Amino acid sequence: QVIYLDGKFVTKAEAKISVYDHGFLYGDGIFEGIRIYNGNIFKCKEHLDRLYDSAKSIMLQIPLSYDEMEAALVETLQRNEMRDGYIRLVVSRGAGDLGLDPRRSPKASVIIIVEKLAIYSEEMYRNGLKTISVSQRRNIPDALNPKIKSLNYLNNILVKIQANLADVGEAIMLNSQGYVAEGSADNIFIVKNGVLTTPPCYVGALEGITRLAIMQICERIGLKVKEEPFTLHDVYVADEVFFTGTAAEVIAVREVDGRVIGSGQAGETTLRLLEEFRSIVEVDGVK
Ligand code: PLP
Repeated sequence: QVIYLDGKFVTKAEAKISVYDHGFLYGDGIFEGIRIYNGNIFKCKEHLDRLYDSAKSIMLQIPLSYDEMEAALVETLQRNEMRDGYIRLVVSRGAGDLGLDPRRSPKASVIIIVEKLAIYSEEMYRNGLKTISVSQRRNIPDALNPKIKSLNYLNNILVKIQANLADVGEAIMLNSQGYVAEGSADNIFIVKNGVLTTPPCYVGALEGITRLAIMQICERIGLKVKEEPFTLHDVYVADEVFFTGTAAEVIAVREVDGRVIGSGQAGETTLRLLEEFRSIVEVDGVK
């Protein structure tokens, strides 16, 4: 396995950054998680657009042009002979001093790691996940805009810890007003009477690329999908609930806080969307 580190390809053991890197000291940086399906970098443009938008928003100068970044991704895959897996693309503010001031970190670091992905079993896709809602609140736009995919994931890690303590794979975060926001690393949808609803990003959700892909699929196959705030009550009484994300794809939820959702396994709409999603993953992207 070789890792792209600031223009060089190095081994896992050699892939080290400075202890003065502000990505490490302050979570000052951004990242993307991208899937590769049969050699296709799925939704490559969307991921790079989100990366460059996040960078602009936090005034981080990415040292590679968009095309150079795409070429670096492709070369990292080729060097690792990777056709199916996961890409972690990180841009940190780079090494500076101990102060917060980003002007003292003159050069951002770019890191590309590709790995095999341990994904949910087919059985889990059919049976669905148990999940819980947690007391941890999603940071909403008045704190850090959820559209920025920053390296500040402590909030999400606290959610993951709560999920671990409850022995469930994913948990649901609310925002400070009590509206459902998203999972620790997934967006959420509910289905009621054939209509899908997902929280608008201003409620406190990342503008997920899988989320958008699912919304586009819904439009194409004639399913109604709304972006509207909703509460846990709406989740409990939904016919179907599912999470979407680069790693999870489309995974059903069978139980939330002890309430069984629908039939207690993956619903028809969720499975249909998973199937439709899997039919585009090898074509919609960069080969
Ligand atoms: N929400 C959060 C907080 C995430 O970290 C992720 C993963 O990237 C998602 C949602 C899902 O987004 P995407 O579909 O772009 O992977």
